[in-house]
Amino acid sequence: MSVNITAYNQLKEELEKNKVTLVAVSKTKPNEDIQDMYDLGQRDFGENYVQELNAKHEALPKDIRWHFIGHLQSNKVKYIAPFVHLIHGVDSASLLKEVNKQAGKFNTVIGCLLQVHIAQEETKFGLDEAELRELMDAVAANDFPHVKIKGLMGMASFTENTEQIKKEFEHLHSLYKKYPGFSILSMGMSSDYRIAVEHGSNMVRIGSLLFGAREYNR
Ligand SMILES: *Cc1c(COP(=O)(O)O)cnc(C)c1O
Repeated sequence: MSVNITAYNQLKEELEKNKVTLVAVSKTKPNEDIQDMYDLGQRDFGENYVQELNAKHEALPKDIRWHFIGHLQSNKVKYIAPFVHLIHGVDSASLLKEVNKQAGKFNTVIGCLLQVHIAQEETKFGLDEAELRELMDAVAANDFPHVKIKGLMGMASFTENTEQIKKEFEHLHSLYKKYPGFSILSMGMSSDYRIAVEHGSNMVRIGSLLFGAREYNR
């Protein structure tokens, strides 16, 4: 099997010590790998694509907590609303509105994180500081009874420069601390999770360290 048991056990121990939740990012990986990690006790898994997430949800144990960590299009919310545990990448009022609407149909409340752009690259999604404030104002002003904003999510620049990464995570942590109602700060991946945890992360999203490199990066 391609799941790295030693890496998983070490990571679990390290994260538990710091009270950090591990989301095992299983995108592009087969159901067998997810089942193997489930058998080791893992329950939180992260996926980026709606169709792939749906197929995996169908096939795998129903007590898995599925995290949607990719960029979510409004017209696809309905496919994951019945079962998704946490949506990490919310970056607009219109998407939030749609999540609220779909969650309402199933009479449930969906947990969401707002994605903030902290990296230098232009390509990564997310809100800037002003947009975050605006969206939080909209949340306060509107009635979204079927949505619960639990915190923030961000991705650091893809760089070897750890000082830069540190600065970006510190920035996100400082924004997170401005909102007393928040409880989840989702930051840190395979290459930078230690820096993230040192700077206030309490949820990391880790794929390749556990499952091995993906054949194609998407
Ligand atoms: C793929 C992905 C991860 C995991 O990346 P690894 O480098 O494999 O740990 C984390 N977060 C997001 C948003 C991703 O798309």
